[in-house]
Amino acid sequence: MCQRTHVLRKIAQIGHPILREQARALSEDELSSQPIQNLIDDMIETMRDANGAGLAATQVYESVQICVIEVDNNPRYPDKPHLPLTILVNPTIEVLDDEMFESYEGCLSVPDLRGVVARSVQIRLRAFDRHGSEVDSVIRGPSAVTFQHECDHLKGVLFVDRVLDPTTLTTWNEFERHHRAAFVERLNALNTRFADR
Ligand code: ZN
Repeated sequence: MCQRTHVLRKIAQIGHPILREQARALSEDELSSQPIQNLIDDMIETMRDANGAGLAATQVYESVQICVIEVDNNPRYPDKPHLPLTILVNPTIEVLDDEMFESYEGCLSVPDLRGVVARSVQIRLRAFDRHGSEVDSVIRGPSAVTFQHECDHLKGVLFVDRVLDPTTLTTWNEFERHHRAAFVERLNALNTRFADR
């Protein structure tokens, strides 16, 4: 069998209609097909190349319900807790608690902009992995935010839609200068609370 080299996919930018599509669910047969398995490999490579914490298929012009997530010494998000590589197919999220966290989000499809979005901190995530096995897990703390951001993409929702106060919008440079310190303090506090749960 010849080894296919992973391909870096182009990342759609805000304004492209594909980012506003509701992605369709995949059948088990489709998921096991070579084109979809190749797409998953390409998404992982593309996410890592762009230093993303996650990537949804709609961001690489494929309107199917797949997202990949990984946080491992990420230079774009140095303060996010470690998250092993996770592949989600047809994911659904159930909010488990009213508590919200105000997170400064960014997105590979929204160049040089971050803004504050309120996200649930305790969620139940149901999906399939790339082999069609069921995923059913409760996620608490900062990682819950990452999962909600990626699953939003599959519904055609971008973080900017959820920014309640537009005055929080900031370039990455100004975030570093004026907002990062206070945000990291809140993020670490949240992380500590949920670290051993
Ligand atoms: Zn995004």
